[in-house]
Amino acid sequence: MNSPEDQKHRQIVLVTGAARGIGRAIAIRLAEQGDDLALNDIDAEILSQTVHQLKESGHHALGLVGDVSDLKAVQDMVAKVVEQYGRIDGLVNNAGIGGVGKTLLELSLEEWDEMLRIDLTASFLMCQAVVPHMLTQGRGRIVNISSITAIMGVAGSTHYAAAKAGVIGFSKSLAREVAESRINVNVVAPGLIDTDMSRKRGIDHQSHLIAWPRIGEPEDVASVVAFLLSDKAEFITGQVLSPNGGACM
Ligand code: NAP
Repeated sequence: MNSPEDQKHRQIVLVTGAARGIGRAIAIRLAEQGDDLALNDIDAEILSQTVHQLKESGHHALGLVGDVSDLKAVQDMVAKVVEQYGRIDGLVNNAGIGGVGKTLLELSLEEWDEMLRIDLTASFLMCQAVVPHMLTQGRGRIVNISSITAIMGVAGSTHYAAAKAGVIGFSKSLAREVAESRINVNVVAPGLIDTDMSRKRGIDHQSHLIAWPRIGEPEDVASVVAFLLSDKAEFITGQVLSPNGGACM
């Protein structure tokens, strides 16, 4: 049972791409620390399983099925969160698609555009829909998920690296725009994490770079995100934290 003090600090957090992998781990971690959640994913079936699991454990979770790169869908989802909870304290832009392992010369314009739309433009759309509420509240926490690929580069991932590097520049500029209003904007750039996405591409192709004697787990990212959403991180904004087991120092 939460104390009245805990209730006061209970946050409403919207997490995108929360049905599986890193997003799901973030959702579980935030729920365990007492936050109320709005969870988005494009995969209705798996999202409903994650939402059901959280509700079964006594947590508050609103499921939002939709494509985060679709302006109308984003506006509708944010409206539903505000309708249900009355405010939005935190936003985690986690939904994304991985690189297809194609070189520059193999990539089509359609593949490039799709990558930028989902892995970069979606964060812009979500922030544009959520920030007005945070400005009204005079407080907010945004965490955008980038990738170590944006920092190091990975052959066969020019479009993914471009989108994820865009997330970093976007987040730093937005952090400066909204700092006066006590809205933090930070980036988490994970290294290799064991999820469906990384397994599709092949876990082995990057694991040799990791100094730590294991690859990352979704919970390694979730704990960094939870920290950035917490009051302990109040003075941190415009930063990039990279849980990567020492793959990049
Ligand atoms: P994941 O296991 O594939 O989970 C991502 C979730 O996002 C999936 O459920 C996916 O649905 C959903 N999604 C994809 N496009 C969407 C859209 N347009 N709208 C709403 N939801 C959408 O991936 P993950 O490994 O957990 O990755 C999460 C984030 O971390 C991504 O931004 C990724 O780029 C980043 N990241 C991952 C790693 C890694 O090693 N895993 C490393 C660095 C950064 P579908 O499966 O149906 O498409």
